[in-house]
Amino acid sequence: MMDIEKLTLSEIKLELKKLVPLLEQYDREYYENDAPSITDAQYDELKNYALKLEKILNQNDLFGETIISKKVGSKAKSGFKKITHKVPMLSLENLYTNDDLKDFTTRIRKDLSLLPTEQFDIVAELKIDGLSFSARYEKGKLISATTRGDGQIGEDITENLKTIKNFPLEINTNLDVLEIRGEVYMSKEDFINLNKYQEEHNDKLFANPRNAAAGSLRQLDVNITRKRNLSVIVYAWGEVLPTPTWETQTEFYEYVKELGFPIQPKYKLCHTYEELQNFYNEIEDIRHAIPFDIDGIVYKVNSLSLQKKLGFIARAPKWAIAHKFPPQQAKTLIKDITLQVGRTGVITPVAELDPINVGGVIVARATLHNQDYIKQKDIRKNDIVIIQRAGDVIPQVVEVIKEERQKTSEEFTMPTTCPICNHELIQKKDEVAYRCSNPTCPAKIKEYLKYFISRDAFNIDGLGDAQIEQFYDLGWIKTPIDIFTLIKNHKYDLSKLDGFGTKSIENLNISIEKSKNIKLDKFIYSLGISGIGSATAILLANKFKNIENLRNATFTELTSIYGIGDTMAMDIMNYFKENDKIDLINNLLTQITIENPKEIEIDETNPLYNKTIVFTGTLTQFSRKDAENLARTLGAHPSSSVSKNTNLVVAGPNAGSKLDTAKKLNIPIITEEEFINLSGKK
Ligand code: NAD
Repeated sequence: MMDIEKLTLSEIKLELKKLVPLLEQYDREYYENDAPSITDAQYDELKNYALKLEKILNQNDLFGETIISKKVGSKAKSGFKKITHKVPMLSLENLYTNDDLKDFTTRIRKDLSLLPTEQFDIVAELKIDGLSFSARYEKGKLISATTRGDGQIGEDITENLKTIKNFPLEINTNLDVLEIRGEVYMSKEDFINLNKYQEEHNDKLFANPRNAAAGSLRQLDVNITRKRNLSVIVYAWGEVLPTPTWETQTEFYEYVKELGFPIQPKYKLCHTYEELQNFYNEIEDIRHAIPFDIDGIVYKVNSLSLQKKLGFIARAPKWAIAHKFPPQQAKTLIKDITLQVGRTGVITPVAELDPINVGGVIVARATLHNQDYIKQKDIRKNDIVIIQRAGDVIPQVVEVIKEERQKTSEEFTMPTTCPICNHELIQKKDEVAYRCSNPTCPAKIKEYLKYFISRDAFNIDGLGDAQIEQFYDLGWIKTPIDIFTLIKNHKYDLSKLDGFGTKSIENLNISIEKSKNIKLDKFIYSLGISGIGSATAILLANKFKNIENLRNATFTELTSIYGIGDTMAMDIMNYFKENDKIDLINNLLTQITIENPKEIEIDETNPLYNKTIVFTGTLTQFSRKDAENLARTLGAHPSSSVSKNTNLVVAGPNAGSKLDTAKKLNIPIITEEEFINLSGKK
C-alpha cells in the first residue's frame, strides 16, 4: 500500500484500477465460496485503503460512479433460486478507535440537531460473526428465507433455515407481513466438532466458525445443513405490514423474544460515549468466554423515529455502526518445525513458536497440517510469522513476514523416514499426507493407546496421555490389554512412582475395572478403524447389535447404512480381516464386557406401524434414505415399488409412475408433511 498523501490523482486512479478486481476476487472467495484466502484484518486494511482512494477521486469529481463504497457483499451463488429483498439488506460502517467512537456520537448529535443537554439512547450489542438472513412471515407463517447476497438479491435458503433447531415455522403475530432479520452462526464448540468430523472423513476443513456457518447454510442439499449445528440471533427487521408495533430497537427485541426468536444475550442501553466505551471494554474482556465468535460491538440509535431522521448512506444505515475488535493476532518466531506422528501414522508438521499471548491465551505451537500447506504459505524454520486463533481457539499461522526472513533460511522439506522409528514414509494415492510405514512404530502405538482411553472410547479416569507415555516408556503398557492387567502386574512398581500413593492406585484400579463394562458403540470407536468417529460408531452399533455381527458384516449390509460409503465399508471389512486386529479383539473380549444396544421399542399404536410404505417424488425435509430410516424406526417397512401389498405412498412433487400405479390400485397417498405428522416427529 502506498502513502496516499504522496500520490497524484492519476496514480490514485491507477492504484484503484488494480484494487477493484482484487477486492472483487476476495469478496467472491469469502461470500460465494466461504473460503477466504486472506484474513479479515488484511481484507479490512486493503478495503479501507481503497475507500480512502475512492473518496479522494470523488472529491475531485474524477471517478463518476463510486464502486467500493456502495457495494454490499457479493452476488447470489448460482444454483440457488434468487429472491429480491423488498427492503434492501445493508451492511454496517466500521469504526476502530475510541476517537472514532467519539466522532460517531458527535456526528449523530449534530445530524439530529440536539442541544448538549438533550439525551438520546444508543443500544450497544454484540456483533455476531456469522452471515445474515431474512425470513418472511405472512399471516404468521414462514413463507421464505434468504441470505443477504448483494443486498438487493439474495439466495433462497428457505428449506435450509427450516432445519435450524427451534427456528419457528409459525409465529403468533397480528402483522400481515413480518420479515425477521438476524445472523446465522455456528458456536465455537460446534465448529471444533465439525472440523474434527471433517478431518475424520477426509473432508474440507473450515477456517473459522463464520465460514463453517456460511458453508453449512448455503447448501443445495438441505440434508447437509440439517446435519450441521447452526443457531440464529435476531436483531433487525425488513418489510413489516401494516406498520411496526414497536417504537424502539429494544422494544423490537422484546417483541420477537415473545414470538420465540433467540435475541442478543447481552445488550445495553447507553446514553454517553463513556457508557458505550465501557460496554465495548467489558465485552472485549470476556470475549473468549462467549460461546460464539463476535468480531465487535454494534451501536444503534434506539428510537425508530430518530433512525428515520438519520437515514442511510449507500451501503449502510447512518444510525448504526460496528466497532470492530482488534484482530486476535500476534507476531512471533518459528523456533523449529517438528513432526508429529499420529495414531494412523500420519505425519503432521508443527510450528514450535516462541510462546506468545494471542487474545489472552499463550500459544506455543501451531499445526502446519501437511507439506502442501507449508509450501503454499512458504513457511520456514526461523521465520517471523503472524499467528491467530481460528474460532478464538485453534492457533494457525496466517502469514510469513518475508521482509524479516533470514538470508540463510531454507525451504521446508518432508524427510523420507519417520522421525521416531526411522522407517520409510509413504504417501497413499490421492492423499497429501505422508504416513509412517512401520506398523509397530512406538509413536503410532502411544497415540493409539491415548485414543483407546479417551472419553469417547474406554474413558478411564486417572489414566491420561502423560501416564500412557510414561507407562509405555517403562514397558508396562505396550498394548490395550496391558491396561487391564496394569494393576495386577505392576502394583508394586506403581507404588514406587511419584504421585502414586495407595489411594491413587486404588482409584485407578476402580476406574480401570469400571471401564471394562463398555457400550458397543464406544467399543467400536475404541478400535480406531479408519474414518469411524463416534457418530458412525453409534450407527454401526444400532445396526449390528453386537460385535460378532459387525465382524461378519457384508459390503451390502454396511453400505445400506446412511452415511457409510463404499470406501468406509471396505475399510471396516479390511480391519476385521487383519490378523493383529483379530488377536486384539479376541484378547480384549477376555477382559471386558460389551453392553449391546437394546432393541428399540416400537410403539405399535403408531399409524405407520407394520405398514408397507413407498416414497416417491422429491422430498424436501429428508433424503429418501433418511425418510426410509425414520419409517423403519416406527415399525414400517419401506419398499421401492408399489404393488397391491403397499399400504401407503408418500408422494412429493415430480412423482412419476409409482404415483400413477398407487392411484390405479387405490392405495392411500399422503404428502411428506402428512408423513411427518403421522411419524410424530414434528
Ligand atoms: P460486516 O460483517 O463488517 O458488518 C455487517 C454485518 O454485521 C451485517 O450484515 C450483519 O450480518 C452483521 N451483524 C452481526 N451482528 C449484528 C448486529 N447485532 N446488528 C446488525 N448487524 C449485525 O460487514 P459485511 O459487509 O458483511 O462484511 C465485511 C466483513 O467481511 C469484514 O469483517 C471483512 O473483513 C469480511 N470479509 C473478508 C474477506 C476476506 O477475504 N477475508 C472478504 C470479504 C469480506
